[in-house]
Amino acid sequence: MKAKFQAIKGMNDILPQQSPAWQALEALLLRLMRQYGYAEIRMPIVEKTALFKRSIGEVTDIVEKEMYTWTDLSDDSLTLRPEGTASCVRAGIEHGLLYNQQQKLWYMGPMFRRENPQKGRYRQFHQLGVEAFGYQGPDVEVEQILLTARLWRELGIADDVVLHINTLGDSASRAAYRDLLVEYFTTHKAQLDEDSLRRLSSNPLRILDSKNPALKALIEAAPKLSQHVDQASKEHFARLQEMLTAAGISYVINDRLVRGLDYYNRTVFEWMTDKLGAQGTICAGGRYDGLAEQLGGQATPASGFAMGLERILALATESGVLADLVDAPDVYLIAMGDAAETQAMVLAEQLREQCPKLRLVVNCGGGNFKKQFKKADRSQAEIALVLGDDEVASGTVGVKFLRVDKAQQTLEWSALASSLATAMGKDLK
Ligand code: ATP
Ligand code: MG
Repeated sequence: MKAKFQAIKGMNDILPQQSPAWQALEALLLRLMRQYGYAEIRMPIVEKTALFKRSIGEVTDIVEKEMYTWTDLSDDSLTLRPEGTASCVRAGIEHGLLYNQQQKLWYMGPMFRRENPQKGRYRQFHQLGVEAFGYQGPDVEVEQILLTARLWRELGIADDVVLHINTLGDSASRAAYRDLLVEYFTTHKAQLDEDSLRRLSSNPLRILDSKNPALKALIEAAPKLSQHVDQASKEHFARLQEMLTAAGISYVINDRLVRGLDYYNRTVFEWMTDKLGAQGTICAGGRYDGLAEQLGGQATPASGFAMGLERILALATESGVLADLVDAPDVYLIAMGDAAETQAMVLAEQLREQCPKLRLVVNCGGGNFKKQFKKADRSQAEIALVLGDDEVASGTVGVKFLRVDKAQQTLEWSALASSLATAMGKDLK
């Protein structure tokens, strides 16, 4: 026997029984994006490696060790996108969407990071990304937070998540704070791990973002960023809080929240849960006013976030509305004998024409009535339509209710569409 193939570690198949939950989540997200007036942008999955190096930052987990990068035949270094913001800004600059304009955009799709696979952490995972360009104030940040809060409510997971917010200040306040951090961590150099030692000279703020539990106490005792934030950023942050409170959103201020990527300034936020073990952040974002310029465009204020769909699904299929979703047809059409099988195809097409909302499965592959009824039952359809020689002769079809105790009916072909809608009590048009 030949050896079987297996999917790449950390890259998952989404199987038929999982698809209903994915589709329900995606449909809900699409509806929310329309409700809030955000427009979809689709970017390629592959970009030049330099784009991610320059935007995400050289000294980040992603760029240092998580990117799938290769040299293609024309000697370009290319990378599978590890996130969407860089591509979105690149596309915005390239197509003139950013300068002197306002844009509210979203995208959804797979991202790739070479991480250690575990529950909630995969090498191919999916994100919804939302970005707003051309808005300076905290209002747009509040809007984005409200949008996510609405999503948690609709998914039935609002009680499982907590909003953490922080402000990073402007670049001058970050620079001043950076010096203090270097001083602090240098004094405690002996306690740092390898990653943190490297970051001490290149990007000390990132030490605060370390996931190493051994560093927790040291990080707790480090100087606080909040004491070094500039006045304008403080006012921005105060206004954000005022608007969140007025909108009924509770939050905690988490002054250890610095985010893993380099491009943030002022507001950063994360929605966290304690229901998913170590992978507690389901949605993260903030303001990144400097990124467009950093990527060669005009200065453009920007605010956005990304959510990890696998983590959201894990929550919403455990405790929320996506638990036990089944994706069953309405009707299973049973046909026995050549004449009935032929007529079944004709009737089914007629029904699909007249009832576009009807979900109709035609029995294929024959079988006696007993076997076909078994398949109908397993399909979880509400109704079995039955066509045999007698029905073909009389131009009728038998209607059997599979889930409720209701007498069998006989319907004429000519009136099948309308009778079916009545029998099911559903609008099928
Ligand atoms: P983490 O701290 O969990 O590594 P991150 O800071 O690297 O997250 P972001 O780059 O902010 O994550 O991505 C936004 C969201 O995408 C995360 O909050 C998470 O929900 C999801 N996410 C990130 N990496 C993965 C992954 N490898 N597998 C599944 N989801 C992920
Ligand atoms: Mg990460």
